[in-house]
Amino acid sequence: MEKEDFGRHDKSIFQKIDKVGSGTYGEVYKGTNTKTKEIIAIKKIKIDLENEGIPSTALREITILRELTHPNIVQLKDVVCDNNKLYLLFEFVDYDLRKFLEDLDKENLSEERIKSILYQILDAVAYCHSKKVIHRDLKPQNILLDKNENIKIADFGLARAFSIPIRPYTKEVLTLWYRAPELLLGINEYSTPVDIWSIGCIFAELILKKPLFKGDYEIEQIYKIFYILGTPHNDIWPDVSSLPNYQFDFPQFNKINLHSLFPNLNDFGIDLLQSMLKYDPNQRITAKEALLHVSFFLYLTLFFTFFSFLALFYCGQQIIGFRSHFLCFFYFCFFLTLNFFFFVNFILIGF
Ligand code: ADP
Ligand code: MG
Repeated sequence: MEKEDFGRHDKSIFQKIDKVGSGTYGEVYKGTNTKTKEIIAIKKIKIDLENEGIPSTALREITILRELTHPNIVQLKDVVCDNNKLYLLFEFVDYDLRKFLEDLDKENLSEERIKSILYQILDAVAYCHSKKVIHRDLKPQNILLDKNENIKIADFGLARAFSIPIRPYTKEVLTLWYRAPELLLGINEYSTPVDIWSIGCIFAELILKKPLFKGDYEIEQIYKIFYILGTPHNDIWPDVSSLPNYQFDFPQFNKINLHSLFPNLNDFGIDLLQSMLKYDPNQRITAKEALLHVSFFLYLTLFFTFFSFLALFYCGQQIIGFRSHFLCFFYFCFFLTLNFFFFVNFILIGF
């Protein structure tokens, strides 16, 4: 769709095929663009002419998505207004992460697949944060992925642009299971770390295939977090006790060793998860730092693998050619040393 055509079409531009999801403000359908024949997703939103008019979530979603262009953020192609309905036309994406995890059934995701999904989510969120946009509702239902496991973050209905200094925002924004502790404890000024907490919960869910903190109401959600991460106090989270919902008679839990909860996750993964689930939002890793965390070890491994093969090649050539015993011995040692590093790396990051 040409950019200048945006918002200029009527309902005849699309045809619905199937319903694929129910959202807060309406339904989402799979459909086709009648002009280009491409498959699209159509989000139908009712306009309440007597009260609210166009829901603020829809307006937010349109304005924010118009500003964001990233391979891992769902593309808003057009908006059609018809009578008392608004239709947002998106690129169509095969699954959402909730359905994808359910369909896996007994199969576990390999570490490489988890890393790839996590990397793409972090890349998109780092981009949003660099554009001063907080998503605020990151959860598996809002993370779409296609058959090749390309991620597209969707549902920017609750997202909002922030400007520095950060102003108090509405507190009731995130679905409970992925909600950051500072929101649960009633902080007034929150920022991008709320998204990182949600990504940490999603990371854990990719491994466990079930939500990490599954509370049905706020206080239960708080206790579920405390039970695993320990009850926070001012030493690890300065001034936590002055937050509005903090109670001095909270039950005191000790932190559970995450290795016992995630026995198959290596030290690197545990370290990353812990950095995303830091209580103090100021100490929580940023999306950009987390990306470096993931890619640093990837590059390190590739580096050692490359040199190991190079050494193997020369070593083999020397043994077969038998030109110099010294060179042969030197290459052999070189190869062994590099492979030792590679092996250590393999153990550490499981790559
Ligand atoms: P809501 O704001 O009401 O939660 P969403 O944008 O999250 O609406 O859409 C609801 C559901 O519809 C999603 O969880 C997903 O399953 C499906 N969906 C949304 N956008 C698309 C899309 N572009 N392609 C395929 N399915 C989608
Ligand atoms: Mg949604």
